[in-house]
Amino acid sequence: MEITTSSDKKRVVIVGAGIVGVSAAIWLQRAGHDVVIVDPKGPAGGTSYGNAGILASIAVVPVTVPGLLGKAPSMLFDRKSPLFLRWSYLPKLIPFLAKYLAHANDSDVNRIADALTLLLHDSADQHVALAKGTEAEKFVAQGNYLFGYADKAAFEKDAYGWNIRRKRGYKFEEMTPSNLADYDAAFEGLFGYGVKCPDHGQITDPGEYVKALATHVQEQGGTFIADEVKDVLVESGLAKGVVTSAQNIEADEVVLATGMWSGALAEKLGVKVPMEAERGYHIEFVNPSIKLKSPIMVASGKFVMTPMEGRLRCAGIVEFGGMSDTRSKAPLELLKEQTLQLMPELQYDRIDEWMGFRPSTSDSLPLIGATQKHKNVWLGFGHQHIGLTAGPKTGRWIAQMINGDKPNVNLEPFSTLRFSNRTNNGP
Ligand SMILES: Cc1cc2nc3c(=O)[nH]c(=O)nc-3n(C[C@H](O)[C@H](O)[C@H](O)COP(=O)(O)OP(=O)(O)OC[C@H]3O[C@@H](n4cnc5c(N)ncnc54)[C@H](O)[C@@H]3O)c2cc1C
Repeated sequence: MEITTSSDKKRVVIVGAGIVGVSAAIWLQRAGHDVVIVDPKGPAGGTSYGNAGILASIAVVPVTVPGLLGKAPSMLFDRKSPLFLRWSYLPKLIPFLAKYLAHANDSDVNRIADALTLLLHDSADQHVALAKGTEAEKFVAQGNYLFGYADKAAFEKDAYGWNIRRKRGYKFEEMTPSNLADYDAAFEGLFGYGVKCPDHGQITDPGEYVKALATHVQEQGGTFIADEVKDVLVESGLAKGVVTSAQNIEADEVVLATGMWSGALAEKLGVKVPMEAERGYHIEFVNPSIKLKSPIMVASGKFVMTPMEGRLRCAGIVEFGGMSDTRSKAPLELLKEQTLQLMPELQYDRIDEWMGFRPSTSDSLPLIGATQKHKNVWLGFGHQHIGLTAGPKTGRWIAQMINGDKPNVNLEPFSTLRFSNRTNNGP
């Protein structure tokens, strides 16, 4: 997956300074190109700020597993379930839901898992390579990712997903309560069964990590412009630059890495994407008295407890409800209640709260590649729950393609055209 140094130096405008945008910028610079990043909120102003920080190579099983349709309605009415809906949003959501739920079958799950394995299997190494020689290196921690279950029966209920992972070569080790306590005394008495996934990793502060990567881009001669891109300038079928609130910025190539905000810009370029925000939440216990050795997914509540610098971040929840910035109280309360039920003795200075938008396409796969109409406009968005994990490789693939180096993998599953192809359950 090498990238060559190009003799054909290009000026590339990258729209969006989340993990995908800054990763593309770094790999483009390393290949010798000039980069300009444009984002009104600054680096990590979007979803890349508040995620759980897991480099979740093993997260290849989509949410849409067989049986979801039967379970979802009761989950919506269960106050303790991690699935929420803002009911006023339901009419807008229905067309997406129909497409999304159509993928909840064995054949689609396996197809999606194959594609996600390609994207995720070496994610810790990808982050190490991305951050090498930058101030961001210190935020990449390689290690184990754990899952904590109430008991063995709860683990066995998840057998479908674990078999899919096993078949794709992922290694994991089952843990009894005493294995868990031997591994980390902080886990003693918390779970009745566990799983340890080696060769994973975490980012110890996702916001600071993305900012440090963006600072590196600027130190290497890249430009950052704090502005919103309103449109892409097109002449004779090719992008000539972007239009912001204040100016036109010329470009030889344009990369759209705008996460959940990509829909309107993509549509102007002729790419219609069925994508909805899976709103997710975190709470942070600042200066916690308990320091976990590794991040752990609390399977019953589908949230992750991740030790971060100076805080314990508990992140998860899926709430469908569009792009309103208004946070719902119930998900935040549920996260707090479930964490303190597990660790009633946890002491902390205060709790900080956050909500972000996972960009989820109806087939749970991101769009990576050039658009059909404009060969010099590149899309890199739609990474649902795994964008932090997959950002560096997505950015590297895009940089390779802009550089004229074809990645030696089949990128068809991420095709930007697939939602125009009616045979693929797309539109
Ligand atoms: C609670 C929660 C937990 C998560 N945990 C994990 C995890 O542990 N591991 C993992 O891999 N993933 C996780 N994710 C998912 C992950 O955070 C996202 O998939 C990822 O951050 C998406 O990155 P991005 O670069 O595509 O988008 P973003 O980080 O959202 O960046 C997009 C940027 O584009 C900018 N932008 C938007 N419109 C414009 C415009 N018109 N002009 C210029 N700029 C614009 C925005 O300001 C923003 O900064 C989690 C998500 C949530 C919500």
